[in-house]
Amino acid sequence: MKHARSGIGRTQKTAAKEGLFAKHPSRADTFTESVIREMTRLALAHNAINLAQGFPDFPCPEELKTAASVAVRDNHNQYAITWGAKNLRDALSARVKTFNGMDFDPETEITVTCGSTEAMMASMLAVIRPGDEVIVPEPFYENYGPDAEISGAVPKYVPLAADFSINEEAWKKAVSRKTRAIILNTPNNPTGKIFTRGELAFIRDLCVDHNLVALTDEIYEHIVYDGRKHISLGSLDGMEDRTVTIGSFSKTYSVTGWRVGYALADADLTSRIRKIHDFLTVGAPAPLQQAAVTALSLPGSYYLGLAEEYNRKRHILYNGLKKAGFSCELPEGAYYIFTDIAGFGKSDVDFARYLVEKIGVAAVPGSSFYHTGGETKLRFTFSKLDGTLEEACRRLEKLA
Ligand code: GLN
Repeated sequence: MKHARSGIGRTQKTAAKEGLFAKHPSRADTFTESVIREMTRLALAHNAINLAQGFPDFPCPEELKTAASVAVRDNHNQYAITWGAKNLRDALSARVKTFNGMDFDPETEITVTCGSTEAMMASMLAVIRPGDEVIVPEPFYENYGPDAEISGAVPKYVPLAADFSINEEAWKKAVSRKTRAIILNTPNNPTGKIFTRGELAFIRDLCVDHNLVALTDEIYEHIVYDGRKHISLGSLDGMEDRTVTIGSFSKTYSVTGWRVGYALADADLTSRIRKIHDFLTVGAPAPLQQAAVTALSLPGSYYLGLAEEYNRKRHILYNGLKKAGFSCELPEGAYYIFTDIAGFGKSDVDFARYLVEKIGVAAVPGSSFYHTGGETKLRFTFSKLDGTLEEACRRLEKLA
């Protein structure tokens, strides 16, 4: 299995050769810990700058801190309704209508979850019958592999083209009688690719022709560059009742530790997702759901400002990486640069270890985004203060 190979440091598949699990391997024995999260621990251990895990090292908006404290003080400290506080579902419904062009009934079609991570896991468990195949475009965000394993799905990895566009023939070939769902992530982690309306229409046709469900992770929807527009797959005709649109407050409002996300889907899909969500987590943090309502009331200028800030950071990291000898492109969206490291003569895991230990910068080995391959890639995030990025670039210059 690939996941054992891509491990760095402690990240190994659990050895089930002896002891309690020798004859009874569990699902946990089929995948490793997250390499992304492990790189954060390694960055801390080596006092390195963490450009590995994608989270900000700068504070969230002041209004949100106040809203969260007020919610705690105002006694929003017991369980919210399992599928989310009513005022949050109402606010989400309004926001998604204006921004994404989709209608969701807050009473029956919205589920607030513990981050988009739970939204994806709950959606897969809600949709998959063990043995069903799920199409996963490669490279992919690390979690989708274990998500598939946990839900009993058989992942079918379909490589994106060299420019990260969709290779239609490969996708058509990947669909079989057992295919049940397609996972899409746009804007994409790790590539930054924003799927075009044409590509989304192709996926729509595939889903409609083969009766598939689309699980679409749109957590970076507001982080887009150069005038590009994010389009929700679920807003295309024919996708209304076969799409789960997943979003989160984490990246848009710089609150990755709050763990508040959501799944939007028609009532039939939602009733299944809500059942799984109920027994998985009971609900997302109640006071932070109240603060999320405040987040949704921020003015339009907030979103423009966010994209502008990240655009500046994108250029700081890009210029630094180029100077240090990395081969890379400016991403279209999200906040990662996916570099080619073939020129440095080390595999991704060895190079990531060298960088964190000797150069003082943590990045994510490319192979953690692939079922097979990725050893010539390394992912850096620029979701950091300008000063953090500048210092990281100074350190990386030693490579040149
Ligand atoms: N999505 C972020 C990343 O890819 C954070 C992942 C996580 O640890 N939840 O780095």
